[in-house]
Amino acid sequence: MIDSITTSETSAGLERADLLGLSRERLAEVLAPVVDKPFRVKQIYQALYERGVRDFSEMTDLSKELRAGLAERFRIGLPAIASRHESSDGTCKYLFRLHDGATVEAVDIPDEGRHTFCISSQAGCALACTFCVTGYWGAGRNLTAGEIVAQVIAIRADRNLPAEGLNIVFMGMGEPLLNVESVKAALDILTEWISPHRITVSTVGILPGLEEMARWECRPNLAISLHAPDEERRSQVMPVNRTYPLAELLPALRRYPLEKGRKLTFEYILIRGFNDSPRDADQLSRLLTGLKAKINLIPVNPDPVLGERMQPPDDARIEAFKDRLRQRGWIATIRRRRGDDVSAACGQLRAFGREARGFRGKG
Ligand code: SAH
Repeated sequence: MIDSITTSETSAGLERADLLGLSRERLAEVLAPVVDKPFRVKQIYQALYERGVRDFSEMTDLSKELRAGLAERFRIGLPAIASRHESSDGTCKYLFRLHDGATVEAVDIPDEGRHTFCISSQAGCALACTFCVTGYWGAGRNLTAGEIVAQVIAIRADRNLPAEGLNIVFMGMGEPLLNVESVKAALDILTEWISPHRITVSTVGILPGLEEMARWECRPNLAISLHAPDEERRSQVMPVNRTYPLAELLPALRRYPLEKGRKLTFEYILIRGFNDSPRDADQLSRLLTGLKAKINLIPVNPDPVLGERMQPPDDARIEAFKDRLRQRGWIATIRRRRGDDVSAACGQLRAFGREARGFRGKG
């Protein structure tokens, strides 16, 4: 379905300040010239972040004059839903068109009454991991805090979902720790109504970003995309490992301040014949020794652009890998594949409307 909202993005419209992406506090400051009563600010905050209104005219609890005054000075940067694809398992993939034409995908994954939103932090990804379709399409710009939060608001409004029971994972397009400033600002807003324990930032392990995160007062859960048990193989599938190798990443994670009861999550994509043997499980277990962590095993989702070699192991081998880790005392789970029929599954999000970058030096 195509939304008509982009048509209102005239050049004049872009000059108006975007209200989305402002924290409660900042919103009050920015609105001060037009709104003097704190409860009005609260009404506007709720309309923006809880009801997900697209237009000031929908703020019917405000006077007509105030709505007009707001519309003159401000805009609501909720991105247009360029398309929406619902999978047979209930997973729903959204393509958002941002005001400059950049596109990002986000996914709503319902599970036993709960919803997990998988959202993007960049409109593409420069890291070129060889198993990931987003990487195949190449880099894209950083999203603003407003554009990150807007994905959550737009999906919630579209699906008519309450904030309760919502989980958010930064596992869509992009590398959150290459866009730390916006991610932090987005988290400041999201954690006003979602517990940081329900939010997970997933990273390949950009060390300066990790160091910064370690200093945040309100920290979300941290997931690390590991995917191989040694330097050589990790560099082969994740070129970023040459910049931030395991030898530096693991000590950084050992220093990372984990609150009581919290664990790191390690994501480990299982690729047939590449990293799926019992010896690999042992090596992985040794690598993580001493860390408070759980391991999420992810059978790779194949995609035509990834080539023939990106195939998942068969079920028995996946189970054996998991069991081996469990025998060694780890909490290990297997991520079920969701949203497959609409290319919403992990690593299948792509930016449209431009040439693919492809994989250089693959193999
Ligand atoms: N850049 C961050 C956030 C993106 S999410 C990061 O890498 O952590 C990346 C996650 O997508 C990976 O950890 C993995 O869980 C998943 N993923 C990527 N490609 C995949 C594929 N082809 N099959 C299954 N999962 C994939």
